Amino acid sequence: MNTMKKNKRIATPSVTRGLMRDFDVSAKKSLGQNFIIEPKIIERIAAEAECTKQDLVLEIGPGLGSLTQALAENAGQVVAVEIDKTLLQPLAQSFADYDNIDIINADALQTDLAELLAPYLNKPGYNPGFMAVANLPYYITTPLIMRFLESNTPWRRLVFMVQKEMAARMQAAPGTKDYGALSLAVQYRAQAKIAFTVPAAVFLPRPKVDSAVIVLERLTEPPVAVQDEALLFAVIRAGFNQRRKTINNALSHVLQLDKPLVAAALAAAGVDGARRAETLTITEFAALSDAISELKPQHINTDI
Ligand code: SAM
Repeated sequence: MNTMKKNKRIATPSVTRGLMRDFDVSAKKSLGQNFIIEPKIIERIAAEAECTKQDLVLEIGPGLGSLTQALAENAGQVVAVEIDKTLLQPLAQSFADYDNIDIINADALQTDLAELLAPYLNKPGYNPGFMAVANLPYYITTPLIMRFLESNTPWRRLVFMVQKEMAARMQAAPGTKDYGALSLAVQYRAQAKIAFTVPAAVFLPRPKVDSAVIVLERLTEPPVAVQDEALLFAVIRAGFNQRRKTINNALSHVLQLDKPLVAAALAAAGVDGARRAETLTITEFAALSDAISELKPQHINTDI
């Protein structure tokens, strides 16, 4: 089989369908496979990444390689993590003539991404850290983005195509219906911007809803300082784990803290325990987290 000419775009209906036919690949709904078949959209996503030949780019879910191709043209090195083994052969064929694309067959949710990228980071002449770019499968959007936000992997910018409603959640303000753990984690770590929205018609197969490209630019410092970041994220998750409960009840049930300790922490943080998590700002969550740290509970499970 011929290798693909470098200037032949993968993101067109005919090339994508041709690859699917040649390799007997069908789009798997269970893996969120909606391939982009519009080269202009690919160019716009790649442009939002603003990567140069001095940059390392991590792509999650290359699929048939439409976005990978554009990223490799701009970046120094692309490392693409794909869970679906049946896509490895078409990817290998399409990128046989590229020397800056490594495809890794792994589950991006289960793999330690910092470890996976370790051999590629801090290469001489490269900018520090990396950026991650993806047309994300719907079912991993929240857990994957939370992993980036909660961890200390040295990402500088995240450029993700997500469902439009997920992009709204990332930018939501307290007291609104979209506000949740994801909004707070985004605010803590990044400046979020919705770059553009994308109609369902540019995908094969077409999803039911429209999408948006969100850019998360890492902040040099979080907007609030906390003693224990893992605890802050646990307090946030606990608050929204049982959204209908008051913050008082959510903290004692989910984090399994004694009621007097929760009452003391709420008083120290100046937060009324009858409020719900969806009304608390990042500053109030930070104050609560620090108040709990200072009261030194015997045991606290931050792994919720
Ligand atoms: N980047 C391609 C494009 O834009 O045409 C494909 C995007 S498609 C929405 C999502 C891709 O993520 C699929 O290739 C799918 O197999 C892959 N994927 C799904 N779950 C994954 C996981 N847990 N880890 C890595 N890749 C995953």
